[in-house]
Amino acid sequence: MNYLISANWKMNGDKAFVKSYLSSVNIEEDPEVQMLICPPDCYLQEMDTNASQIVSRGAQNLSFNSNGAYTGEVSVEMLHDHNVQYVIVGHSERRQFHSETNEIVAKKFKTAIDNDIIPILCVGETIIHSDKQFVVAYEPIWAIGTGETATPELANESHIFIKDTINEICPSNEHNVVIIYGGSVNSSNATDLFKMSHINGALIGGASLDVNEFIKIFNIAKEINHE
Ligand code: PEP
Repeated sequence: MNYLISANWKMNGDKAFVKSYLSSVNIEEDPEVQMLICPPDCYLQEMDTNASQIVSRGAQNLSFNSNGAYTGEVSVEMLHDHNVQYVIVGHSERRQFHSETNEIVAKKFKTAIDNDIIPILCVGETIIHSDKQFVVAYEPIWAIGTGETATPELANESHIFIKDTINEICPSNEHNVVIIYGGSVNSSNATDLFKMSHINGALIGGASLDVNEFIKIFNIAKEINHE
């Protein structure tokens, strides 16, 4: 996979939104450019039933406990029941509003990896040694939901730094890591970002709520990939 274009709906949408959004996603399969949608958990079933099989299913969070008295939490088994393939861990909003520490994020990352769900690690913490596939989302916090984007060159420099760091910590992972950018990505800035050597896609919040905009961004990645 050369590009991963991911929608993080956060706590947005309702049943009607999900239905109409998914029915508008008519894309062709491309093994090199993957589309991923991460709805709120309560719509994972809807997503599993109604999204095209070409679209990957993602969750926005998971518990590091397997089951038990953890009110409000969702386990990996529950995510598997909805055919979830990816999970976002360590998003800055979880750190800020739900007091997730690096230690908690690391446990969630490991839980996902150990249970064959690909974690999208929003950076800022120690990366666990792993031979399995994972995704890192570089998300400058000042760019999330603000309309401000890192310049493609600066974002690319950070991606190179992340890749070099991962290679140092676990060289066996060199080919397994996909590094995507997050922070006010939209169809106007996606081209310049995706043309950068080390930007393998995006984690998109606000702009992913508009299905036409999200598909536009996806198609930009496809075009660049095939140039
Ligand atoms: C995000 O939530 O990860 C994000 C990048 O949001 P936005 O695209 O709205 O900045």
